[in-house]
Amino acid sequence: EDDATPASNATEAVAPVHAFRKGAETMQFQAEVNRLMDILINSLYSNKDIFLRELISNAADALDKIRFLALTDKSQLGDTEESQALGIRIWVDEERRVLSIRDSGVGMTRQDLVNNLGTVARSGTSAFLEQAQRGGDLSLIGQFGVGFYSVYLVADYVEVVTKHNNDSQWVWESRASGDYALSADEDGPQLGRGTQINIHLKPACEEYARPDKLRELVQRYSEFISFPISLQVEKT
Ligand code: ADP
Ligand code: MG
Repeated sequence: EDDATPASNATEAVAPVHAFRKGAETMQFQAEVNRLMDILINSLYSNKDIFLRELISNAADALDKIRFLALTDKSQLGDTEESQALGIRIWVDEERRVLSIRDSGVGMTRQDLVNNLGTVARSGTSAFLEQAQRGGDLSLIGQFGVGFYSVYLVADYVEVVTKHNNDSQWVWESRASGDYALSADEDGPQLGRGTQINIHLKPACEEYARPDKLRELVQRYSEFISFPISLQVEKT
């Protein structure tokens, strides 16, 4: 055998652009969630802006939850300045087209991730699916209790890094329908408490990495949010 013969490119395994972390446990989405994600990720729906409204609203809900818990148990807020400051931060890596949104809310345990973002059907899923398949208004997604998935209107890969007081830090990753991956996140930067969503924007959605676009959206969607939202982008 001639060791000098280069391996044929045609048979070389090509790693997916967004490979799951090493050692991650992969799990299947519930069938209806799969269908929902397929529709969203392939959608030509023009009002994709609403994904940010949904993520900001989830962040605010998580902040409400920790604020409520802290009413009866102040230690829930933790002892670092960052974990005590309840708020939302948004920033972007324009070059890599990664938009991040982080809250210091209640966070999710591993079981919460499985229950809320994957395996367990949420009651509104099929109703929204029906409406979406009939060409209905996708911006109503939040009313069906599946607003999180609207992130796939603009993303082809999403990471949810999260830390709840009663668990260690976990990462959920998914390229939309099919499977998602869960892994314990001991090596990544630690959040203290809360959730950070890293949104890898589709090439066609790169406008959501632009400071001016983000400024407009954050202004629009922060109106009824009772927590501070800071947008960290370059001055233009
Ligand atoms: P809804 O907000 O109507 O419950 P979503 O699809 O927007 O539906 O979110 C599903 C669930 O995922 C939420 O109910 C919550 O439990 C969890 N979740 C989503 N985003 C966050 C977050 N930033 N922090 C904590 N939990 C979250
Ligand atoms: Mg929501």
